[in-house]
Amino acid sequence: MDYNKKSVTDIEVRGKKVLLRCDFNVPMAKDGSGVITDDKRIRAALPTIQYLLEQNAAVIACSHMGKPKGEWKPELSMTPVAARLSELLGKEVILAKDIVGEDAQAKAAALQPGQILLLENLRYDKGETKNNPDFAKALADLAGADGVYVSDAFGTVHRAHASTAGVAAYLPAVSGFLIQKELDVIGGALAAPKRPLVAILGGSKVSSKIGVINNLLEIADTIIIGGGMAYTFSAAQGGKVGNSLLEEDWKEYSLEMLQKAKDKGVKLLLPVDTVVADKFAPDANSQVVDAGQIPDGWEGLDIGPKTVELYCNAVADAGTVIWNGPMGVFEFEKFAVGTKAVAEALSKTDAITIIGGGDSAAAVQQLGYADKMTHISTGGGASLEFMEGKVLPGIACLQDK
Ligand code: ADP
Ligand code: MG
Repeated sequence: MDYNKKSVTDIEVRGKKVLLRCDFNVPMAKDGSGVITDDKRIRAALPTIQYLLEQNAAVIACSHMGKPKGEWKPELSMTPVAARLSELLGKEVILAKDIVGEDAQAKAAALQPGQILLLENLRYDKGETKNNPDFAKALADLAGADGVYVSDAFGTVHRAHASTAGVAAYLPAVSGFLIQKELDVIGGALAAPKRPLVAILGGSKVSSKIGVINNLLEIADTIIIGGGMAYTFSAAQGGKVGNSLLEEDWKEYSLEMLQKAKDKGVKLLLPVDTVVADKFAPDANSQVVDAGQIPDGWEGLDIGPKTVELYCNAVADAGTVIWNGPMGVFEFEKFAVGTKAVAEALSKTDAITIIGGGDSAAAVQQLGYADKMTHISTGGGASLEFMEGKVLPGIACLQDK
């Protein structure tokens, strides 16, 4: 895939109407009170919005929230987002009562340079997820004949929806600053990494990481395997894994990957020891055993101390580190040690450090290393597909540089 895409600074937006696709899919209080429990995504959108407003563009912002599946669910209205965005910007955010209906059309037509309008939840219309061309055209028409489309919702670029891809057929399409950074840092690391490139792969299952392992084997110098998936690799090589997470159906694949690493001259590291627990619980009894020697009745929930040392040494003089997947069940403090040690090691290297994947980003944040990393991807599923080397429809549709 070509990552060299135009951004909002490569195109004239001054005085124009800009349709801006944001990711305002924020978590809301479960009691239906309309309280936003984490406004990180709204704050993340501010640089692009502020730039556009400073350029005297008229901004027509839009996003989806939740999965209303074409139904007008009031608890998924953008009303709370408009209020929070308005507070953060320190200016009025006009909220449309619909998406591409009469109210949105009238408010978009009347919108003045330097003003911002927010449309209702895109997924109130079935045309959004179906990438219906009429719906995409109606969205584009809000920006008018001279309009521009700016895409800044990285979390949805792996989906070909009307607002993430379809609309680019009708308006000049460029990225906002959030997507630009994802392209620069992750795209850069995949296309022309500063070497050595070390990929750390963990998380729960081999089966959810097949594409990532396979693609990174093509480009990395070293691959480090941790987390639950390591036990499938261990079992495939004849190791005893007790009650650890094991995917029988993926043992064969694990062996193929080990062979592929050999053929390509990629160094592939597997755990040499593991922390095992007598139950899957935060207060489980634990002990350290050698990899492949897990006693019956015990399960591996973290990498062991020798493995920690091995892995930390492996990243010490990396040029780039791409990390997806925690090393253990970091949600339990007792089994977060391996993940924390790796995060600490990354924080100390001079390498470009990239964190992809929803749980990995959460782990790094929770453990307090977020501001020590070069880049934490803002998209969970999107960043995985990015690392798999897949064509992302929401990126492919943007203008090439
Ligand atoms: P990401 O969202 O970053 O791609 P994954 O979804 O693949 O990461 O994996 C995250 C999950 O993997 C975490 O919830 C973590 O508890 C789990 N995990 C890590 N190691 C183990 C293990 N040894 N056994 C069971 N689950 C594990
Ligand atoms: Mg996950």
